[in-house]
Amino acid sequence: MIAVPGFEGRRVAVFGLGRSGLTAARALKAGGAHPILWDDSVSSRMQAEAEGFAVEDLTAANWSGFAALILSPGAPLTHPKPHWTVDKAKAANVPVIGDIELFARALAALPEEQRPRVVAITGTNGKSTTTALIGWVLKQAGLTVHVGGNIGIGVLALPAPTRDAVYVIEVSSYQLDLTTSFAPDVAILTNISPDHLDRHGGMEGYIDAKARLFQALRPQAVALIGVDEAEGQGIAADLTMRDIAGVRIQTSAHPGESRDPVLSLEHNGSDQQLDKVSTDHRPKDWVPAFAGMSGVLEARGRTLLANGQPLLDLTPARSLPGRHNAQNAAFAYAAARALGVSHEIAVQGLMTFPGLAHRMEEVGRLGAVRFINDSKATNADATRQALSSYSSVFWIVGGRAKDGGIEDLTDLFPRVVHAYLIGEAAEDFARTLAYTPHTICRDMATAVRRAAADAQAAGGDQIVLLSPACASFDQFPDFEARGEAFRAAVLNLGATPFVQG
Ligand code: ADP
Repeated sequence: MIAVPGFEGRRVAVFGLGRSGLTAARALKAGGAHPILWDDSVSSRMQAEAEGFAVEDLTAANWSGFAALILSPGAPLTHPKPHWTVDKAKAANVPVIGDIELFARALAALPEEQRPRVVAITGTNGKSTTTALIGWVLKQAGLTVHVGGNIGIGVLALPAPTRDAVYVIEVSSYQLDLTTSFAPDVAILTNISPDHLDRHGGMEGYIDAKARLFQALRPQAVALIGVDEAEGQGIAADLTMRDIAGVRIQTSAHPGESRDPVLSLEHNGSDQQLDKVSTDHRPKDWVPAFAGMSGVLEARGRTLLANGQPLLDLTPARSLPGRHNAQNAAFAYAAARALGVSHEIAVQGLMTFPGLAHRMEEVGRLGAVRFINDSKATNADATRQALSSYSSVFWIVGGRAKDGGIEDLTDLFPRVVHAYLIGEAAEDFARTLAYTPHTICRDMATAVRRAAADAQAAGGDQIVLLSPACASFDQFPDFEARGEAFRAAVLNLGATPFVQG
């Protein structure tokens, strides 16, 4: 756990006793503060009390006695309207912050030479994949790596900081709204498309939240920005004006690109400008080595290019299919290089990444038919990435539809050999699919069985893809359970489980 100093002997209000709230309370207590906890849920309050925390009704508390309010990222700061604790904190001039800000302060309290390094990742899509991938690559390089934040373990529950450690932290827009001084050494924005707008009061508020990752960067920091959207370009331009070293990450489709592994350029080992980066792992040497490096890293098909020159070929990276994963790989490569990892080790890390469960995860094979679990694709945008990765696919889709359903995906329907519809959305999606062959299957086992039979009958290399473009809640507790149901159905057919390597 990371003890948070700076509040010794002071009362700190903690609202929202989910995982991050309780962890924050523990971290504050370890730093000598008196956290005062509250939640609307009685069982959460009882759990906090059982752990020995002070639980007080914050509706009736004397707010002027609090040094800060630690707000759960689940409670609204501004929209649709501020949570009542925020109103009370504001009225009493109490700062409202979150766990990432506490983490930032805990690190800032350390003497400079003892500070670990921090890589932070935000963006609309690809955060978890990029975070896990960076963690993996850095581990392959022999670094002491702690991965957490919005993925896996809450940031304050990660091991205490040491000089040689690297924290790789996924940060959501809600968490960013609750930070003021977070200053990662490598700051990454993957991409921006409209999401969670209800909580940010519109697109502008959402972009502002994402831009907060860059507000406190030190001059020696490195920013890696996805510039496929205008919003990323704007943030990149702003950083250039602030003289912060940055790499612009862009993806490009080229004419006729199937977005399958098509290009197979020989790896020529050339590092281009990125070669300036030191391969020395000592913490203090990496920054000067990367400073001044403002380049473009482009994912074109399966090739990454540094400032227009081929840098590496992603074809062998089986767990990183698709254009979106080429983008994620570009971020991971640049982040690793920024931390002093050599080109060869960074490339090796990308190639051996085992992948994240439920995100374009290959779960098994039946003869020449591969089964891909993309259960995490809970909206059409995410499913677009999956469908774009294959030129021909047997597609299992459906669940509880989001606004617009799969209408935005009609341009990709020519890639669909046959669709198998599950869940509540089945009839609606059948209408949208129109002349694209489809079968209403309702449940996962039926869909997998039919898709497997059709794919095998088609002969040759085929893909059965679960990419539902829907929430899972009509049939499953969450997307993980949906993905596991897919895996079980695939293995029940006698498929060989996929093993990396
Ligand atoms: P997040 O943590 O931001 O939700 P994930 O890495 O869990 O992102 O991926 C969620 C979904 O988004 C996956 O189904 C995947 O197909 C898609 N995705 C992954 N990376 C990207 C990217 N760079 N751009 C667009 N979509 C992506």
